[in-house]
Amino acid sequence: MAFMLSEEHQAIREAVREFGENEMSPVAEEHDRAHKYPEAIRKKAAEYDFVAPAIPLEYGGAGMDKISSTIVTEELWRADPGIGSAVGSAGFGTNMIIEFGDEWMKEEWLPKIANGETASCSMISEPAHGSNVAGIETVAEEDGDGYVLNGNKMWITNGTVADVGVLMANTSPDAGHKGITAFLVEMDRDGVSTEKIDNKLGIRASDLAEVIIDDVRVPKENVIGEIDHGFYQLMEFFASGRTSVASQAVGAAQGALDAAIEYANEREQFDQKIKEFQAIEHKLAEMATKVEAARSLTYRAASQVEKNNQDVAAQYSSMAKLFASEISVEVADEGVQVHGGAGYVTDYPAERYYRDARITKIYEGTSEIQKNIIADQIL
Ligand SMILES: Cc1cc2nc3c(=O)[nH]c(=O)nc-3n(C[C@H](O)[C@H](O)[C@H](O)COP(=O)(O)OP(=O)(O)OC[C@H]3O[C@@H](n4cnc5c(N)ncnc54)[C@H](O)[C@@H]3O)c2cc1C
Repeated sequence: MAFMLSEEHQAIREAVREFGENEMSPVAEEHDRAHKYPEAIRKKAAEYDFVAPAIPLEYGGAGMDKISSTIVTEELWRADPGIGSAVGSAGFGTNMIIEFGDEWMKEEWLPKIANGETASCSMISEPAHGSNVAGIETVAEEDGDGYVLNGNKMWITNGTVADVGVLMANTSPDAGHKGITAFLVEMDRDGVSTEKIDNKLGIRASDLAEVIIDDVRVPKENVIGEIDHGFYQLMEFFASGRTSVASQAVGAAQGALDAAIEYANEREQFDQKIKEFQAIEHKLAEMATKVEAARSLTYRAASQVEKNNQDVAAQYSSMAKLFASEISVEVADEGVQVHGGAGYVTDYPAERYYRDARITKIYEGTSEIQKNIIADQIL
């Protein structure tokens, strides 16, 4: 299947790249060092529609197609994965609201997220259940005109900065994946508390927290979609989410490659630029080839998500996520090598890309889980 980007896609790439070069790269090291959440940059990015680009136009978003939003994510991560993560994840969970939420949820929350006023979060993982989503233990008990929620949610991106979140809980605890329901939870409700996780290897500008849900009461109108259908609803977004992480990985790898090329053009040893050593130019050639292959697979997955070809999208998105995240870490590692000792310190971005790329092999389904999915599809 041939795949070409349109002129509009190219224009989006150029616009995000310009934003990244001007607003993100120059402050990336400072945000990483201070573990500083880039709220001002998130608000500025929203002016250009780079925050939650897929939110529909009628709710203040850009209504971008999947390929466009893939390009936005890729370029944000190319500029800096930490800030890119914070900006690109500002609308976590909104796909559930857009697809299955009631009108009041869309009107109340989507415009505020799209215009950068606030962020949302998606609360699925728990301390004891990460890969095994169907095993979650957070419960929702019916009580009069509402539900009472109890449980702990772990590794929640935007946990301390979001004003709203989508939480997965058991409404029929003995039914496994057939008993899970999605709830909209306003984060200022009594009983919601957060504990920031501030000792991350990478993407340090991105906010991460454990969210404790202690007797949190929500009205029945906060149910998103159907009772006991939350897992099936969630599954509809797996291919899209995995394609997004693949684009993060491509962006980080491209950023690491750009930094390595720049350094190889500057640094001299034995009276010549290091790029003139065949060992270095071959390294750069291999890095560039891996990035391009991962990008092609990612766009291919994005086009299947856009066409809603569910089985094909599921397979390609897992392949793209697996391949792009693996090569992202390899390329970032070689980027450090091209820098020699300078790659081991924070004076250059090489070590940051190396730390930042690593997350793409873990979240939204680990590499091992992606291999399980691909094997299920092909065997
Ligand atoms: C920075 C960061 C941000 C995150 N953001 C969010 C978020 O916003 N919302 C959210 O809900 N979650 C989020 N997560 C959680 C993330 O999705 C999980 O960490 C991930 O799914 C893995 O789950 P786990 O950590 O419990 O690892 P485990 O599931 O305990 O896995 C441990 C190891 O066992 C392997 N393994 C497990 N099951 C199998 C199997 N069946 N076959 C083969 N190998 C297997 C895994 O591949 C892994 O190597 C985030 C995590 C991080 C680190």
